[in-house]
Amino acid sequence: MIAAPSPAGPTATDLPAGPTPGEWSSAVAAIEAVPTGGRVLLLCHVNPDGDALGSMLGFGLGLRSLGGRSIQATFPGSQDLPPSLQGMPGAELLVPPDQSWTDPDLVLCFDVAAASRLGPLAQRMDSSTAIVVDHHASNTRFGGIHLVDPGAAATSVVVDQLLGRLGVPLDEQIAECLYIALVTDTGSFRFDMTTPAVHELAARLLATGIRPAEISRRVFDSRPFGAVRLFGAVLQRSALEPAAAGGRGLVWTYATLADLETYGQPPYVLEALIDSVRCTVEADVSCVLKQVTPTSWAVSMRSKGGVDVSQVAVSLGGGGHRLAAGFTGAGSVEEIVAAIRARLG
Ligand code: AMP
Ligand code: MN
Ligand code: MN
Repeated sequence: MIAAPSPAGPTATDLPAGPTPGEWSSAVAAIEAVPTGGRVLLLCHVNPDGDALGSMLGFGLGLRSLGGRSIQATFPGSQDLPPSLQGMPGAELLVPPDQSWTDPDLVLCFDVAAASRLGPLAQRMDSSTAIVVDHHASNTRFGGIHLVDPGAAATSVVVDQLLGRLGVPLDEQIAECLYIALVTDTGSFRFDMTTPAVHELAARLLATGIRPAEISRRVFDSRPFGAVRLFGAVLQRSALEPAAAGGRGLVWTYATLADLETYGQPPYVLEALIDSVRCTVEADVSCVLKQVTPTSWAVSMRSKGGVDVSQVAVSLGGGGHRLAAGFTGAGSVEEIVAAIRARLG
């Protein structure tokens, strides 16, 4: 059974506090201790989203502006980025994971709630001084130094604070990275972590001269016609279960590898599918299963506030936030939905 969060959203007492003064000073000291010519490796989670990539590259550009260090950025798994995230400022810092340093002077990872999200790159966190920059309440506290703020709407909020403490001023390129991260994780300032501080950060980012309309069109509103038709087919088979989640309602659908084949689409077009499903007013909880291999599925879950979906995701081996979480499911669609249904109570 999932505890119902307060309808007003998380309060300071619901969430662990952000980084302590000691954690901030340890992180700044570790970064400043990198010798001239030293190597800093930046990591983010598999299948990076706007927050993971934007936080990593925004920090990388900021660190580069201080001079003196060599910087690499990488992430595990497929190196194919969706077009919406290609060409982000700082992309020149990216290297394939197998070409990244195995013994850097310092490692930082961004938007990574658990070491498993780093795949084989998790080893890098053990072999060097490692700083975890994140905002997931489910963060497992792997790595050495923690800059984890579950009250932050995006990892980029923590990155902005870290850059400030390092004395790095925002420029247009850093701002574009951090803005993409912020709009991605706040659903364009719609989700419940959208605090006054989020808008104050957005204002500082916009003041550098970045163009929000052009960024939003590129990141959210660009889709090939085949993907529009694919969404139609997948949405057509959505199921609504009003009695699920203790009467709060569940809506779900799934997309198969065959669907991608039929419409000639790559897997990443499905990332936006959950946004078309979660608007269902009859259901508090929404869920999309995206087939990754014949027997495994990437599962996205969302809640409107009545259910903490991160508890469901964590109990099924994944993670995330109270209102947005996910896991990798094995088995058939019906088996995975049954497991979710059972945990929703
Ligand atoms: P998504 O539905 O992929 O947009 O993910 C929503 C949230 O759940 C994000 O904060 C992810 O970090 C988290 N998440 C998704 N999949 C997993 C997973 N397999 N393991 C841990 N966390 C996940
Ligand atoms: Mn992420
Ligand atoms: Mn994030």
